[in-house]
Amino acid sequence: MAAPNVAADGLEVILTPYRFDANDLRWLPTGEAAAKVRMSKEAAKNWRLVLGQQSLPLSEIRKASAMGPHFLVLDLEKQGHVGLRCEDELGLKQFTAELLRRKADYERFEQYDQSSVQSYFQYYAKLSNQQNMLQDGVRTSTYNRAIVENPDDFAGKSAMDLGAGSGILSFFAVQAGAEKVYAVEASSMGEVVRLLADANAFLTKKIQVISRPVETITPSELDGKVDVLVSEPIGTFLFNERMIESYLCARDRFLKPGGKMFPNAGTLCVAPFSDSLLHWEQANKNGFWKNTNFYGIDLSAAVQRCTKEHFRQPIVDYINPECLVSKHIETRFDFMTISVESLQKIEIPFDFEISQPCLVHGLAGWFDAHFEGSNQTVILSTAPWCSGTHWYQIRFLLEVPLAVNAGQHVEGTLKMEANNLQSYYLSIFMRIKGTDISSSAPCIDLKDPEYRFYTSANSYCPPGTAQAGAQQAATPQQYQQAHFAQTQNILPGQAFGAPQSPWVEATAVWGGGPQRPETGQPMVNGFGHR
Ligand code: SAH
Repeated sequence: MAAPNVAADGLEVILTPYRFDANDLRWLPTGEAAAKVRMSKEAAKNWRLVLGQQSLPLSEIRKASAMGPHFLVLDLEKQGHVGLRCEDELGLKQFTAELLRRKADYERFEQYDQSSVQSYFQYYAKLSNQQNMLQDGVRTSTYNRAIVENPDDFAGKSAMDLGAGSGILSFFAVQAGAEKVYAVEASSMGEVVRLLADANAFLTKKIQVISRPVETITPSELDGKVDVLVSEPIGTFLFNERMIESYLCARDRFLKPGGKMFPNAGTLCVAPFSDSLLHWEQANKNGFWKNTNFYGIDLSAAVQRCTKEHFRQPIVDYINPECLVSKHIETRFDFMTISVESLQKIEIPFDFEISQPCLVHGLAGWFDAHFEGSNQTVILSTAPWCSGTHWYQIRFLLEVPLAVNAGQHVEGTLKMEANNLQSYYLSIFMRIKGTDISSSAPCIDLKDPEYRFYTSANSYCPPGTAQAGAQQAATPQQYQQAHFAQTQNILPGQAFGAPQSPWVEATAVWGGGPQRPETGQPMVNGFGHR
């Protein structure tokens, strides 16, 4: 990951402090001397505002408003309104722009495309989408264990559940002994948290629902900071949805020093893979556009664009571990310490030793979430050799594969750049080490995956994981639910693939897998599978 490792300073301006005189109804100088003001950041930390001798985190700036070419008003968490006058008009303009940009980066929702935000919260406002996550038995049972088996981190403590959804993690926190849990949920699902908490006597007094984005909550609305934060902020390939940034924001604002985070870290894992069938499938999706006489029109000029469009899509399905052609590498993100800023651009350099002669078709990816509690460590792994989850695994394809021999190394970089659609654009460069033979995937859109588990009969299903194709459902959404409905039979604390599990083992690896409908994607506006 590319963590900036040097201190950085923004533009510096000289500002004279003013305060608002409520009797006179105007701003008056405080009498303090003019001071140097700038934005500043230390390695791997968030930007701060340096006001003379003070240094404030952005979380303490509630609002910054330009009140004229020479005057800036800051609404600060502790001091309230502070006026700042500057003689240098251009300097103040540039400084204000920088401050607002950094603040917006920090408070993500303002910087996003508003239709993305709207469809995001609409998606989570539906019970069926919450149900889909609850019925992911690996996910829910692992969170349950991580929380209830770490009573020292919860008993008698205050907690915040960021993105409470149906409230399940808040309820687990109470089961683990938490005295008070703030269930923060920005979608209308907050109403369901209240409904369920009131219907379960042991929860009702301990749960306080806050139905707003965490970014808009101020510490004064809480009875002080909390001992522990719980959250499931995880999207496809860990970072899709960019909700981890909200989790870090909650950490900065609401977690006591020395408090705990569940999960406290995530690791992103990547390995090269070889899968000719998958590559063939994608490469041949342009067939329709090869038509030279479609109602008298030659469509073939669009073939190349169609091919590019398919290779831009990451593939989301289960990966047969046998198609990985090197040991994977892991990059750890420590949620206790990383900054929001460090997630804007993530770079993962790699150097893989290839284990067999093969065509390398791209990079496979997955993640683990770590819960290092006081009583025990629990890991939620979505690796290909583990039982399946609703996150599946992901693959980024090279349009032109690399032919590699056993023992040769493939080196390169995976780059991720955050975008205002609550997701990332990725690019991959891969080269056979010591040669100039290389291939790249210049622009992969993490928000627009191909859910191949539902669209291709060739998709793999790991042993012990429910097969989606057991029955034909009418819509992709129903299909998705049918898949996870099978996990309902699971006993509490039991995961996919446990010996008692009722599921059929996958019978075929390539080819004869379950039937899947040739319908669209089981998703709404890019967030269907998170
Ligand atoms: N905790 C639940 C739901 C996880 S899904 C569970 O584990 O089952 C993530 C939830 O976080 C969604 O319901 C979404 O609406 C909510 N969410 C995402 N970003 C948020 C933010 N910044 N503030 C509050 N809620 C948020």
